[in-house]
Amino acid sequence: MYAEVIVDVAAYPIDRPFDYLVPEQYCELIESGSRVKVPFGNRQVLGFVTALKSETDVPTEKQKPIGELLDIEPVLTQEMLEMTKWLKRHTLCYEIDALQVMLPSALRAKYEKILRIVDHNVELPQSVQALFQQREHVELKVDESKELLSLIKRLVKEDILSLETSIKQKTAVKKVRMIHIESDFERLKTVYDSISNQAKKQKDVVKWMMDHLGERIVSADLLKQLSTTNAVLQAVIEKGAATLQMEEIYRDPYADRTMDKSTKLALTNEQHLALSEIIHSYDKQEAKTFLLHGITGSGKTEVYLQAIERALLDDQEAIVLVPEISLTPQMTNRFKERFGSLVAVLHSGLSTGEKYDEWRKIKRGEVKVVVGARSAIFAPFQNVGIIILDEEHEGTYKQDDSPRYHARDVAIWRSEYHNCPVILGSATPSLESYARAKKGNYTLLTLANRPKEQALPEVSIVDMREQLKNGNRSMFSLELAEAINVRLDKQEQMVLFLNRRGHSSFVLCRDCGTVVECPNCDISMTYHRHQEKIKCHYCGEESQVPHTCPECSSEHIRFFGTGTQKVEEEIARLFPAARVLRMDVDTTRKKGSHEHILKLFGEGKADILLGTQMIAKGLDFPNITLVGVLSADTTLHLADFRAAEKTFQLLTQVSGRAGRHDKAGEVIVQTYTPEHYAIQFAQHHDFVPFYNQEMMNRKQFLYPPFTYVVLIQITHEDVLMTAEYAHKAANWLRDNLTDQSEIIGPTASSISRLQNRYRYQCLIKYKKEPTLPEILQQLTRIYRTDWIKKGILMSIDLNPSSIM
Ligand code: ADP
Ligand code: ZN
Ligand code: ZN
Repeated sequence: MYAEVIVDVAAYPIDRPFDYLVPEQYCELIESGSRVKVPFGNRQVLGFVTALKSETDVPTEKQKPIGELLDIEPVLTQEMLEMTKWLKRHTLCYEIDALQVMLPSALRAKYEKILRIVDHNVELPQSVQALFQQREHVELKVDESKELLSLIKRLVKEDILSLETSIKQKTAVKKVRMIHIESDFERLKTVYDSISNQAKKQKDVVKWMMDHLGERIVSADLLKQLSTTNAVLQAVIEKGAATLQMEEIYRDPYADRTMDKSTKLALTNEQHLALSEIIHSYDKQEAKTFLLHGITGSGKTEVYLQAIERALLDDQEAIVLVPEISLTPQMTNRFKERFGSLVAVLHSGLSTGEKYDEWRKIKRGEVKVVVGARSAIFAPFQNVGIIILDEEHEGTYKQDDSPRYHARDVAIWRSEYHNCPVILGSATPSLESYARAKKGNYTLLTLANRPKEQALPEVSIVDMREQLKNGNRSMFSLELAEAINVRLDKQEQMVLFLNRRGHSSFVLCRDCGTVVECPNCDISMTYHRHQEKIKCHYCGEESQVPHTCPECSSEHIRFFGTGTQKVEEEIARLFPAARVLRMDVDTTRKKGSHEHILKLFGEGKADILLGTQMIAKGLDFPNITLVGVLSADTTLHLADFRAAEKTFQLLTQVSGRAGRHDKAGEVIVQTYTPEHYAIQFAQHHDFVPFYNQEMMNRKQFLYPPFTYVVLIQITHEDVLMTAEYAHKAANWLRDNLTDQSEIIGPTASSISRLQNRYRYQCLIKYKKEPTLPEILQQLTRIYRTDWIKKGILMSIDLNPSSIM
């Protein structure tokens, strides 16, 4: 028997299955989807069996056997193996990358280099000897000094040492010593009688066991409960009172939490309508995609919960995706409260082992609902009944590195595989999804009201240009400062939101609000600090940073961007009595800190929660009555065609944090461009008019959803090489694509150098280009066989979430 194996080597000629001989002892056990250790070149690598067959074209003398079968039960299902092919074609990734992305990191290979003494007659140099101490072989770390490494290299050449690569098999399974008590009373009695009266402690243990016939108990728990010793327990086990087995257990990240069970709510008419359409399609086993457009607080989650409940009745499973930043306990608890231990939660705060445990529960069908971020879309369920993407517009559903998949596409693929509905939910759907819903590709469901008819908060817009004119140079307008003081007096809570994204900054006139834009592209120019220049990332236009405003000639023109820390200092100066909690990447680096900050805020330990993007969603505290947006402009002037869309989404989301309960909420948005339509429509919570306006702009400049976009990025340590190959790529595309496609660039990327590599990009815009996949495949091949040897790195991103 032969196995087709995809090996863990991401390189062009290797991106295909290799045939291996299946040794006799594995013939019965091996299945496609299992991981194996195989010899490849002169080392051992991890591989995935993708098919089994009885014949091969490989001549007998060249056939190599599989080294070791790593899984008795395959880790990849048939569905995943099929999905791999699709992912490979649609994201242009290596097949091995597609296979690995579906698995928890505990199952991906880790390699170690083992250094071994071969020739014992030679005395090793001091530094090498120190490495070995008394051992025969050690793991060689790459972070050893250069001198030591080159010394080792020489010794390996001289056959004094050997160096081999082997797979580090971390079995992340956690095991405990489990005591199984004899279930037959008579037998236990016999053991009891056989113990002499001197061994009173043993007698006590067996006596206790006679009251717990046939039960299982963790050894440590038993010792504690009976205050006895391991020696005593060991003795009674030897006499036959019980047996000891090592058993797998799960690390439960939620072990010490108790939760009240929630019951389903009586739905409003709108919710009921939406749910019945979904259930209707579920009953008919239709692979239908619904776009659930519901304003913030309209009860979308309750619709999800009841749709899941329906699927569970049939013993079907549910996948719920939420953006990582809204994987707050507040959100996940709502699923745990409804479905208890049937829910597994996957988020980045779990340890590798915890993630692996959750994954195994899913694989074994011990849970029925998984709630998680992007990668949870690969949950290895086999009877998926419903898939939900909450906040479907979020950019984090797109993976930034290979495989560059969008969770929404994978969700729809899986729904077709399982014949089940997908629900895309949002208060601010992406333009793409809403356009598809309007065309009828998705089914639009609308929740236009909040269940208890709470009003959406009043949003007021403060023109920061006026503040400056009136001599207020602070980042707090008089209106916002006043509102903060009122809340401090009334002991109500506030959220202050600093809109900051990416590294990009733009140049803004503080007198008239003008942002310097590209003369050709209708997109703001990006400020490059090092060269003191502004550049357009779409067409390459660049110029000196202006010292006066091109519109009003004011000298108050400068680049823009403020950190949370600076805001915190300003708060301390202006509102010395305020207690502030800051939430940003710096304060949430440690595991659990996100949750901790929210807990403190929920307990009223602070008046102000100050933060970035990550506080825009999911927060639901009754005492928040004010939301302040310090500057709405930052996302608005991003060098990205989605800038207005992202701003609208963000403002709508943050506004949704205020006044969700009994106390009315107020939102104050500070901006230098109050007249911008994204801000105007967000003020009135008007999605549809915003959509219509934005669609007109996209149509005029031919951006998605009117076209598709592919981003090609080239990086290299040398700037000339980068530019040269970016031009090569662009020219190659111009030669090979039809004139249906527009190729923009190459230009330097917004972040023009990252980790010492220069970055250039070009963009393909097209409406219809039937051979595009093949052409991109060919370009990839040129890159992988040739350019890569020169140190060039190229990435191709179809439908990128951002083009910066
Ligand atoms: P969304 O997910 O659309 O932002 P939520 O599901 O968080 O909205 O609902 C907002 C609030 O309304 C929650 O406190 C929820 O418990 C409540 N709610 C939802 N549906 C109902 C209903 N049918 N009756 C009463 N309250 C409801
Ligand atoms: Zn331009
Ligand atoms: Zn100006």
